Formats: sequence, structure tokens, C-alpha cells
Amino acid sequence: MTTAMNTKFFVDMEDIYGAHNYHPLDVVITKAKGIWVWDVEGNKYLDFLSAYSAVNQGHCHPRIVKALIEQAKKVTLTSRAFRNDQWPLLAKELCDLTGYQMVLPMNSGAEAVETALKAARMWAYQKKGVPEDQAEVITCANNFHGRTITIISFSTEPLYRRDFGPFTPGFISVPYGDIEALEKAITPNTAAFLVEPIQAEAGIIIPPEGYLRRAKEICEKNNVLFIADEIQTGLGRVGRWLACEYEEVRPDVVVIGKSLGGGCYAVSAVLSDREVLGLFTPGSHGSTFGGNPLACAVARESLRVIQEENLIDNAAQLGNYFLEKLKTIKSRWIKEVRGKGLLIGIELYPEAGGARRFCEALKEEGLLCKETHEHVIRFAPPLVIKEKDLNWAFKKIKKVFKELD
Ligand SMILES: *Cc1c(COP(=O)(O)O)cnc(C)c1O
Repeated sequence: MTTAMNTKFFVDMEDIYGAHNYHPLDVVITKAKGIWVWDVEGNKYLDFLSAYSAVNQGHCHPRIVKALIEQAKKVTLTSRAFRNDQWPLLAKELCDLTGYQMVLPMNSGAEAVETALKAARMWAYQKKGVPEDQAEVITCANNFHGRTITIISFSTEPLYRRDFGPFTPGFISVPYGDIEALEKAITPNTAAFLVEPIQAEAGIIIPPEGYLRRAKEICEKNNVLFIADEIQTGLGRVGRWLACEYEEVRPDVVVIGKSLGGGCYAVSAVLSDREVLGLFTPGSHGSTFGGNPLACAVARESLRVIQEENLIDNAAQLGNYFLEKLKTIKSRWIKEVRGKGLLIGIELYPEAGGARRFCEALKEEGLLCKETHEHVIRFAPPLVIKEKDLNWAFKKIKKVFKELD
């Protein structure tokens, strides 16, 4: 290893030339495979974050990389001015998989959320008869749906909004998990209710049992679209294709992203029926890269890997196993351990001094995870993980809690 190729070199360069819109741990990753990543010093770590659930299939999955390379050699981008032979196949496969009638492809998660909001407004004007420019969308406190100006317009996190106004009107906020508040907030102009089935970024907040089901019923009764943001919870992370399945809820609109691209490519999509997505007409919405053949080939293989490697069952089973194991850790810092599938959070008491120092200590032990919202440590390994690797991680976690006691 050359002397320049060390961690400090890259950290310093990033800090000088890169905008500081993140606060990463100082580990410079140069290589990854499956559940493991390696830094420039040659240290090996278990990835317990999975790029915020964008690599559910594991890093550099050979099948997904192969699909990427093979498609890259054929055709990568046509724009939707022309058709390509991958997008129709992905659209059909997604519909077959989820039971929806139509798909609209985008790239980032935020773009797909924006697309769902546009669809909901369009539906409100054309189908529900809401007067022009009066459509309202109900959102939840502590939500995370992305970083565009419209999306942060309905964020309740001051850090996400500070100095970014003026904001987009037409959004109403209700407390998450509060059915009565939702019911009260609905007006004749309500187009949609936008919700995360589990609030991951907010600190793995699981709503009360029955909340999603009742929210869906209320939406139906009031002719309001139920939009589920499953960008992080979907595609197997919580032990189901979609987290809403736990309450047998079929959202009117579903937004997916992250692992749809298997960690290799940014691919997102909005799923719904003709009643909603059928309202788009040529020119009403678009994306130069959305639905490109490279993205679609990667997404098709990413979905097949989830299915054929039984990653969803693995997430459900090992998630339960690991959650119960974590609950046995005795520490005066731990307020609660909660999660579904392999999306697990350890909430610490404020006296613990923040989750960050635990993540720093875990990094030293070879386990990469990240604090979310100051007091929660999030555990979300790739879904290809095995029981023995979780046992290894558990030992490290237990050790760190003992040392930082
Ligand atoms: C990550 C995420 C987004 C935003 O996705 P980007 O690809 O970062 O734009 C939106 N909603 C949820 C729930 C997410 O976890």
C-alpha cells in the first residue's frame, strides 16, 4: 500500500473539494462483496447499513453485475423518445409481482415520490373533481421522503428545511400513527395520504398495530388515495415484498427505489392502477434516464435475485432471530430494541451520549452501521446475510455496549 493511499488522504480531499452535506464515518471503502466491505487500509468490515437498504441483494452481486455489464455492451440509453426492449419487460414483471396494472419508471427515490404526488394531484382534479390548485396531500410528522424542495416542504425536521424556503403549498401534517388526526385532517380537497409503513429515517418508528389498515379504510371512505412510500421498507427488507402486507393493505399507489437497482444503479418506480397512472399523457411528465435499458436490465435481475435467493424469507426469519438476540443485551443505555425483518433499531436514552459514539466503536470492531436521529442505531445488513454472520455481529455489539457502559 502506498503511503498516499490511506484514509486521511481521502478524508482530507473529500473535505476540501466535496460539499459537506453528509457526516460520514471515516472509513474509506474501496471494495465490497456480499455483506463485506474493505477499506483502503485493507481492513474488512461487515456492512450493517446496506447503503440505507439499497443493497439488499448484497454488494456487487455477481448476477446483477453480469446483467449490468451485458446490457452495458448492448444499449444503455435511448431516452423515451424511442422504445427499448428492457423497459416493457421490467414493467410487466413488476406488475406481475405486485398485482398493480401500471408502472412509471424514474431514477432516484425522491423523483418517484414527486411523481406519485403529481399523479395524486392529477387524479384529484380529473377524477375526484377537486377545484383547480386546491388539492391537498396529508403527510406524517417525522416523515422522510427525500430532499427536493417540494418534499422538504412537508418535512417536520428543521435541519432538512432551514434556509431552503419558500416551500411548496398543499401539504398538511398529522402525527404518525394517529388515526383520529388523519380522519380530522381530511377535507373534500384531500387528494392523498402519503405514509411510510415504518418510518426508517425517523428512527425505525413502527406505527401501532392496525394503523395502516384503518388509515386505508378511512382513505377509501373519503375517496382519498393511500400512497405508501416503500422505498426503504420494500423489496424484502422487512420480511415481505412490501411492508404494507403485514396489515393486508393494498395501497392505491406504491413508491419503490433503493434495492430495485440492486446497489448497482439508481432505479425507482411508481406502481398503481390505470385509474391513476393512466392519467399521464405524453408531455405531462418525464425523465431522460427513467426507464433506460441499463436501469431496467439491472432492476429485472435485482428482482429475480430477491425472489430466487429467498431473501424475503431470510429477512423475516433472521430478522426475528436477531431482534430477540439483541433484546437480551443488558445495558443501562438501551431504551428499546425494535424492528421488523432486517430493519432494526436500538433506541438509546439521551444519557447514552448519542448513537454516534456507539457506531464509531462498532466500526473499530469491524461492523459498519449508522446512527439515525441522534439516539437510534440502525441495523440493516444485506438480506443475503447468514445466521453465523449475525452471531459474529452480535458478539461485537454486546462487547461495545459493555465497553461503553
Ligand atoms: C431513501 C428514501 C427516499 C429518497 O430516496 P433517494 O433515492 O435518496 O432520493 C424516500 N423515501 C424513503 C422512505 C427513503 O428511505
